[in-house]
Amino acid sequence: MTDTTAVPVFPPPTVTTADRREVADGVHLIPDGGVPLVPNIGIVVGDEAALVIDTGLGPANGERVLAAAREVAGGRRLFLTTTHYHSEHSMGAQAFRGHATFIANRAQRDEQRDTGAQHVGFAASISPVFADLLADAEFVEPDLVYERELELDLGGRTVRLLHDGPGHTAGDQFVYLPDEGVLFAGDVIENQLCPVIEHWSPGGVNAWLDQLDLLGRLNPATIVPGHGAVGGPDLIGEYRDWFTELRSRTLAARSAGTPVAEYGPAVIAELLAQRPGWGNGAFAHLAVESLDAELSRAADDRWRTGLETITGEMGVAPEEALGLLTTMAGDRAAAQAVNAAGEAWSGRGLSRRERSLAILTILAASREPIERLRPNIRYALRNGVSARDLDSLASLLFVYSGTPTGIWTARTFHEELAAAAASH
Ligand SMILES: [Zn+2]
Repeated sequence: MTDTTAVPVFPPPTVTTADRREVADGVHLIPDGGVPLVPNIGIVVGDEAALVIDTGLGPANGERVLAAAREVAGGRRLFLTTTHYHSEHSMGAQAFRGHATFIANRAQRDEQRDTGAQHVGFAASISPVFADLLADAEFVEPDLVYERELELDLGGRTVRLLHDGPGHTAGDQFVYLPDEGVLFAGDVIENQLCPVIEHWSPGGVNAWLDQLDLLGRLNPATIVPGHGAVGGPDLIGEYRDWFTELRSRTLAARSAGTPVAEYGPAVIAELLAQRPGWGNGAFAHLAVESLDAELSRAADDRWRTGLETITGEMGVAPEEALGLLTTMAGDRAAAQAVNAAGEAWSGRGLSRRERSLAILTILAASREPIERLRPNIRYALRNGVSARDLDSLASLLFVYSGTPTGIWTARTFHEELAAAAASH
């Protein structure tokens, strides 16, 4: 039985280059060995040059990785890149100064400038061993900065560096080898470890799911996660399941009006019970709190979007719109309120487009079955309502998110709109 009150003792996060092996011809992996704060490190070798992916924690580890890279790359030119700014992935970069061209996406560079010191402080606070390793660590600016994608030709071997918005951090970068189907995913995927999502994660659950969609479209055969064993494409589905379950359970718990402090532990216990052996459980608790905060922010945003839609696009006076939304948010009077507003709108001599939107709003807010909405969606699309309009309207309907029927209505409606717009 483990004594859970004991202060955890962390092994030194030493990158063990002797364990280096190939995951494909010329694609080397220095595995993390299951040691916390050791990342999986890649060295991809082409005819002309080699690319190192991540550095280990602190300059001493960076030196080890550089030596391993020299060993496999011989006299070839060296490039270095980092999957994200977190200390164990990037804070050994100074060892490569003068030896490698350091490439990173702009978001990652900016994020390290903004919050790198904070993460180093956090890592150093966990254990004196980590603090020692980071004592002489310096921030290194990339030599070459790109925005979203950079294709690197190593000589007979193409590597794609990809950044597409926030996920685990603001500056996540994927490294994909299209010919070999090998993906270095950074911490957007960790194998058998709960995703590390925190209050300060810039993107949240929905952004992370977007990143997983992107990785799925790459269709990788082999995934080197930021931490944990190398796996196949199943790793993407495992994380997608984690986040969608987390989201649906959290939405259901919130709809009952329960605060996160009460429902959070149960949600996490259910998720973890289905995943025996997964580590990073402490981050699971942060994940549910983070999602709860994200949903609150999103509700505020949708409220604003709703207001903008009916004031801006439908020409309703702001006070009237606010009154309408306030009433809609209260469950009972919603249908009457929207009906009344619809009469007001039609009395204003609205265009067919505006009237279509108004009718759709009324029907959806009145909890009409989705079958009744379909012809009206088609009618709206014929009358010049755009897919974007429908999306704004769907956002407006999310003001119902505080109630179970509201969630159903908004979600179903949103899906229906997306399908109708796509097939139009
Ligand atoms: Zn990380």
